[in-house]
Amino acid sequence: MPLKSDAQGRSCNFIGGEWVPPSTAEYAPNRSPANLDEVLGHFPASGRKDAEAAVQAAKAAFPAWAATPAPARGRILWKAVELFKSRLDELARTLCREEGKTLAEARGEVMKGINLLEFYAGEGFRIHGKTLPSEVRQTFTCTVRQPLGVVALITPWNFPFAIPAWKSAPALVTGNTVVLKPASNTPATATLLAQVYEEAGIPKGVFNLVTGPGGAVGNTLVDHPEVKAVSFTGSNSIGMALNERCAKRGIKVTAEMGGKNAAVVLDDADLDLAVAGILQGAYGSTGQRCTATSRVVAQRGIAPRLVEALVAGAQKLQVGNGLEPGIEMGPAVDESQLKTDLRYIELAKEEGAKLLTGGQRLTGGAFDNGYYVQPTLFVGVRPGMRIHQEEVFGPVIAVVEVGDFDEALMVANAVEFGLSSSIYTRDSNLAMRFVERVEVGMVHVNNPTVGGEAQLPFGGWKSTGIGEREMAEEGAEFFTQLKTVFFDYTGAARTSKIY
Ligand code: NAP
Repeated sequence: MPLKSDAQGRSCNFIGGEWVPPSTAEYAPNRSPANLDEVLGHFPASGRKDAEAAVQAAKAAFPAWAATPAPARGRILWKAVELFKSRLDELARTLCREEGKTLAEARGEVMKGINLLEFYAGEGFRIHGKTLPSEVRQTFTCTVRQPLGVVALITPWNFPFAIPAWKSAPALVTGNTVVLKPASNTPATATLLAQVYEEAGIPKGVFNLVTGPGGAVGNTLVDHPEVKAVSFTGSNSIGMALNERCAKRGIKVTAEMGGKNAAVVLDDADLDLAVAGILQGAYGSTGQRCTATSRVVAQRGIAPRLVEALVAGAQKLQVGNGLEPGIEMGPAVDESQLKTDLRYIELAKEEGAKLLTGGQRLTGGAFDNGYYVQPTLFVGVRPGMRIHQEEVFGPVIAVVEVGDFDEALMVANAVEFGLSSSIYTRDSNLAMRFVERVEVGMVHVNNPTVGGEAQLPFGGWKSTGIGEREMAEEGAEFFTQLKTVFFDYTGAARTSKIY
């Protein structure tokens, strides 16, 4: 699926149904982190004026889109589903080249985005309020859900297709018009999303895309008086600042931010199951998932065997360019993320954690042309250490040993984040106690910390999440406001009324 480009081969913004150059006339190259010689294209480094133009286009398109029956809005999403299915492989290849995850992971992400679009296409038939009895005779009372207006979607680079899909589909089906600002690292996949929406028949101005830096484009969107809600996924520092700005304007915001997810492994666990789940959760997508397993809380009886198997698994992983067959882990997304990974590895050593495997940048041959780091594992980690407290967002496991279930639960909860957690045990009583008491938005039993499904709410507790859950029915509710209707059908003046 070729990227639309201008006569000079540069990409464009999608504003008011037109592919337009940025007002800044500036462009940024989009290089593959797996091979820095490979340039996917040059994308608009847009500015304030472009963001403003997109908001105005979205504002103009809102009344007609809001008045379009929701099932008809859903059918446009369904058309997009069909188009994406027919282009799954091309899209996955672009995603793999742009973000660096393996081709299999990229295919998985595209399928997940398609599932979300399928789900929300159907939600066009189910945007429901409630019918409730009134205190007053011959009065019909109910609630209806209505769209908010222009909404801004600000997305990170780690799921460059699935996250723009899971935010835009519910926003659109509920009748809002959208301005999407994708991460500067991953504009190509978002541009393909805009191309498919256009082809699926989205009316002009209903979906707009502006690529460019968070500071200029993102801030303009967040502060724009016509933007009625902001849906953000990304880091805590940006998300918390953005939340303050939205609070000042009194608009809705949802911010899904960092994680520090623990897999608890009790002595009675199925060892093979735990090892497979942790390797997938920790090193899949190079550890660059908000739900990545970055901590392993192991009970003392099983810890030596578990650690031995994890180290062996980490050492067997094939690291390289995810486009190549057999590659199981790709590079860090950019130089900054690579440096963050290496900085945390050094910090963990300084804090006294023991490095059992990995810990180095991979060099030599093709590795020199990308941002590759070894799958890494530390033991001897204590809950107070920064490697246990802070999100690395790289392929680094920190193992903490504990004596029993209660200590495991305490350690699992001893972080500021609350996104996801898992427990490996054959004891269903302990599993249920964990489900009840672990402080996270998503909990898995005998299953990796990663994963989500379109129909299930996604998001975190504590410092991870602000606002409503994403995906599922809840994800659509965020983009609506309730109206309560009182319909008096007596046809005569009332002698009394309850207030
Ligand atoms: P980030 O640096 O916070 O960026 C996220 C988005 O915000 C990007 O589009 C960025 O634009 C934009 N931005 C930057 N400054 C802004 C500003 N002043 N105003 C408005 N927007 C601004 O995060 P990231 O590095 O892309 O993503 C990694 C983080 O996302 C991790 O912490 C991860 O845990 C989190 N995440 C959370 C979830 C979840 O559901 N909880 C899911 C996925 C990822 P630029 O790219 O142009 O800077």
